[in-house]
Amino acid sequence: MPITRLTKPDSKFRLDDVSTDPPRDATKQEAAERLKELGEELLELQELMWGARTHSILIVLQGRDAAGKDGAIKNVVGALNPRGVTVSSFGVPTKEEREHDFLWRIHRQAPRAGEFAIFNRSHYEDVLVVRVHDLAPKALWGERYGHINDFEELLAEHGTIVIKFFLHISKKEQEKRLLEREENPSTAWKLNVNDWKEREHWDEYTEAYDEVFRRCSAKHAPWYIVPADAKWYRNLVVAETVAETMREYRDGWLKTLERNGKAGREELDEYRRSRGGRNKG
Ligand code: AMP
Ligand code: MG
Repeated sequence: MPITRLTKPDSKFRLDDVSTDPPRDATKQEAAERLKELGEELLELQELMWGARTHSILIVLQGRDAAGKDGAIKNVVGALNPRGVTVSSFGVPTKEEREHDFLWRIHRQAPRAGEFAIFNRSHYEDVLVVRVHDLAPKALWGERYGHINDFEELLAEHGTIVIKFFLHISKKEQEKRLLEREENPSTAWKLNVNDWKEREHWDEYTEAYDEVFRRCSAKHAPWYIVPADAKWYRNLVVAETVAETMREYRDGWLKTLERNGKAGREELDEYRRSRGGRNKG
């Protein structure tokens, strides 16, 4: 699968150069079959990570309104054991949150060893919406790219596997989805005039995102640009990417589990031996 993966700073990257469509040869039918396999694999990998407790996963989801962040989350989480998965949504900061530094509310939701944390929006809003709408002085948000890089490095050093997705939709697809919401009573709760207002800032958001991808891409915290005009392809790319990332840790987790299992059995044996003479049974 041709995935746009950014693993280092690149001052030339342009979001507009990346297609929002699935590749020509991808089919919905094949994607559905593959997605089923991936679901099983993800569950197995999750169990290994849970048991080994050496790593955790942080999935960051960013995208414009109607890009499908909720749908992508539902799809990944649906494959997992809900024990050990938390989903956090970051909206307009509360008063208490505004009275702290921008990473305060984010860091508290970082995953524990063995667990998954999924972020619906994230610390990146503080260099996106904040930048586009002048919600803080440039002197403040301009320093945040560096803080974000340091923060993600800290997480990675602690064993957190950081995977960042940008769900990439076209302006036309966004319009279609926003209009659909108005027609369908079951999605009308999502209606938000703000989405149409934000749409008027499309190009400014593109610039803000370009800067994010140019400056906040790292090997330990890569960005994946997901063509998201087709929901089935978006779901496939996200699941495939998470599985592919976790697969590299599989052997290590298995070794840890074997070692821990052996230590556990030895402890049990010793306990039984110590009771050997007395109170048997
Ligand atoms: P939604 O994800 O549609 O529920 O909307 C959440 C809203 O909160 C979006 O419009 C975000 O841009 C906004 N938001 C998230 N983080 C921040 C932030 N740090 N500062 C200001 N607005 C934010
Ligand atoms: Mg919204």
